[in-house]
Amino acid sequence: AALSAPPDQPVLIHDAARPLLDRAVIDRLLAALDGADGALPALPVADSLRRGADGLMTDTVDREDLWRAQTPQAFRRGVIEAAYATWPSSETPTDEAIVVQRHGGRVALVDGDPRLMKLTYPEDFAMAEAMLPRQIRIGSGYDVHRWGPGGAVWLCGVEIPHDQTLIGHSDADAGLHALTDAILGAIGEGDIGDHFPPTDDTWKGAPSDLFLKHAAGLVTARGGRISNVDVTLICERPKVKPHRQAMRERLADILGIPLDAVSVKATTSEGLGFTGRGEGLAAQAVATVELPAA
Ligand code: MG
Repeated sequence: AALSAPPDQPVLIHDAARPLLDRAVIDRLLAALDGADGALPALPVADSLRRGADGLMTDTVDREDLWRAQTPQAFRRGVIEAAYATWPSSETPTDEAIVVQRHGGRVALVDGDPRLMKLTYPEDFAMAEAMLPRQIRIGSGYDVHRWGPGGAVWLCGVEIPHDQTLIGHSDADAGLHALTDAILGAIGEGDIGDHFPPTDDTWKGAPSDLFLKHAAGLVTARGGRISNVDVTLICERPKVKPHRQAMRERLADILGIPLDAVSVKATTSEGLGFTGRGEGLAAQAVATVELPAA
């Protein structure tokens, strides 16, 4: 009644519990309206059908001409309106196709789509999510900080007692910075400096989990999720291995992903280069992100 469409305008009536609607289904419905008063998507019944009572099978139902009705269902606006006008107010129709058919209309069956499943039970949501088209994205990040005087160092969100510290504008956690850049890279959101300019004093001495949380939040805002992350720390000292598990747990906690989706590794550079000479620490990271398909 709220529509201003003219009587010959097609209208599609959809059950919102079927979110995975493909454009092709709509095209089939509109095409079928050329030769019918209404059209609905339907699927053949693949399983055998049985009647039963008290837990025992009583009869077999021939599934030859049985169809599973889906939505959206398409009608000319004037047709569905006229049909509803004659529907007995004492009865509740299970769908619009019944209303039009009982009004004497010819309702066409067009090919349905298994993805149009009706989300009815809690477990249906997991199945629907598995059917959503998704794209896999990968991002990489790299960061370096210089060693300076100090008594502890932040690495991957964990404070490690050490005879030096890393120098930087924030807490200089190169592991978190590389990982933040990896996640930003996976979603094409620039780098950490774009989001937290080092010229801005707000981030002076800031704990870097804040940067990582921000990047993870951008993924969530796009309906995506982080599948896994892998960080490699490159330094001669301190020894990373004793802290690896704590780092993994911290990253999993910040990102809200399972522990087995988080890897932290460390290597020396065999005494070579700036990491080998103990001038600085380098970190690199890779992140895999799943986004809804465009
Ligand atoms: Mg940095």
